[in-house]
Amino acid sequence: MSSFRALRIDKTDAGQTVSVVDFPESELMEGDVVVRVSHSTVNYKDGLAITGKSPVVRRFPMIPGIDFVGTVTASETDEFKPGDAVILNGWGVGETHLGGYAEAARVKSDWLVPLPQGLSPADAMAIGTAGYTSMLCVMALEKHGVTPKSGPVLVTGAAGGVGSVAVAILGKLGYHVVASTGRSEEAEWLKALGASEIVDRAEFASPGKPLQKERFGGVVDSVGSVPLANAIAQVKSGGAVAACGLAAGMDLPTSVAPFILRGVSLLGVNSVTVPKPIRVEAYRRLAQDLPRDKLAAITRTISFDEIIPTAQAIIDGKVRGRVVVEI
Ligand code: NDP
Repeated sequence: MSSFRALRIDKTDAGQTVSVVDFPESELMEGDVVVRVSHSTVNYKDGLAITGKSPVVRRFPMIPGIDFVGTVTASETDEFKPGDAVILNGWGVGETHLGGYAEAARVKSDWLVPLPQGLSPADAMAIGTAGYTSMLCVMALEKHGVTPKSGPVLVTGAAGGVGSVAVAILGKLGYHVVASTGRSEEAEWLKALGASEIVDRAEFASPGKPLQKERFGGVVDSVGSVPLANAIAQVKSGGAVAACGLAAGMDLPTSVAPFILRGVSLLGVNSVTVPKPIRVEAYRRLAQDLPRDKLAAITRTISFDEIIPTAQAIIDGKVRGRVVVEI
């Protein structure tokens, strides 16, 4: 393969362009493993990259796509051999290192995890970085000691990628899941995924007091800003919030009161640079604790040509659940 099909972002004085190109293999970046990519996904960050809404791309030209699954075609390390199925999430791929919207990728072996038994390549990308981050959030809450007995768990952005996978995992683990969404038409879908209660995200949208009625044993938050501040204000004494996203904004207008008067913990989750043993454990847990029928109900599959419009749709909050791209 001397060249392959790829999506490429270029930057000129006139702004950013995104086009489908024939990309020379000789221009792939450094790495000790070459992967033939079979599937990628559209995450919120991919939407930011392709629309140019936030400066997540820090090298041009760039092939976007922050995650992929595929088969090793060449390896300079003993860890992987041709034919191995591998997953990549994060590590700056699609931001500083050429990414997953391409038929081939060359990356560092340290960034790859083996596809776990029980997951197909399409399953792995149905989970994608959003779903893998949901599991990191659940693991962070568990490490803090949150259990189904701690009380209801709130999931914000519930109809989105991170949120819907979190609802499915937490429901399977026996939690009373309170799903916060702005899409009332998705209430039945969210209940079928594992939500026990649906709340309108408008409940969390207006600035409130830093201490409100104690409701939740834990929270998985993918939206940030005022909704996160209100969620923190409603966590029971000793409870915890796993915060991973900013769909509503980067700010966090709260006070120290929930932390010093209720001992609430705010657990930051950054999936991008998580060490490999934790990644492997997260995928083992996903293979075990994410019911496949629920994953199928969350997922839609698109072709390579649909990536650009889908990137805009995710930024507009119009994507439900997860999107798999067949490369
Ligand atoms: P999606 O767009 O699929 O989901 C985001 C959801 O947030 C929307 O579906 C919507 O849910 C809700 N939402 C959007 N705008 C607002 C708003 N103004 N107020 C309240 N809720 C809102 O994105 P993903 O699930 O893929 O990602 C979610 C966030 O998590 C992003 O910010 C992303 O960058 C971040 N992320 C972080 C990672 C990390 O490592 N820390 C890894 C992966 C994602 P609904 O329609 O149900 O209201």
